[in-house]
Amino acid sequence: MNNIGQNILTLQSEIPAGVTLVAVSKTYPPGIIMQAYQTGQRVFGENRVQELLSKQPQLPADIEWHLIGHLQTNKVKYVAPFVSLIHSVDSLKLLQEINKEAGKQNRTLSCLLQMHIADEESKFGFSEEEVTSVLQNNPPHNFPNVQIKGVMGMATFTDDEEQVRNEFRHLRGIFDRLKAGFFASSPVFSEISMGMSGDYPIAIEEGATIVRIGSRIFGER
Ligand SMILES: *Cc1c(COP(=O)(O)O)cnc(C)c1O
Repeated sequence: MNNIGQNILTLQSEIPAGVTLVAVSKTYPPGIIMQAYQTGQRVFGENRVQELLSKQPQLPADIEWHLIGHLQTNKVKYVAPFVSLIHSVDSLKLLQEINKEAGKQNRTLSCLLQMHIADEESKFGFSEEEVTSVLQNNPPHNFPNVQIKGVMGMATFTDDEEQVRNEFRHLRGIFDRLKAGFFASSPVFSEISMGMSGDYPIAIEEGATIVRIGSRIFGER
């Protein structure tokens, strides 16, 4: 068995049933992605639209593609026909655009609300205050072609495990409050996407339902 296959199998044995593994294949070519596919992995994540658009047609149609990186409104139309989950909704404008483009495709698009939980300026995402006000003014039924399935966040890039744990715990708290406030009658609001190669065990302990893992599968980029 090659390394990629072995890495996937090892991860699958560590990750509890009920937690989805997104294999983050950014920067890796289709041939490498196929090695993961051949071990049964079907969920892959890409962070750039252009790269996703070039790989998707070269790979099997039963792959579920997740967009995990920042999405510009003018690019929504390109991914709307096929993407299965957008992790990175970070503005009202984007939510509106996804609703519009999903409608044109006669689809309902699944999304996560990206929350800013890290102690770093550079990362995208809503604050809890912002997302609460967006949802108060635009209740989820305003977006009939969008299914808001939960939240996503990235912890600070640090060796301080306590800090990382606190940030994941914070995201879990935001999820619980949004659920109670806006999605109490929506069973599909059930996902917490958090945890990457360096911190996924902590994320799982803190309630992740989706982990996004790249370098631990495919190697350092
Ligand atoms: C690259 C990336 C990951 C995976 O990172 P690794 O450290 O390689 O596991 C997860 N989430 C997002 C948003 C990414 O851009």
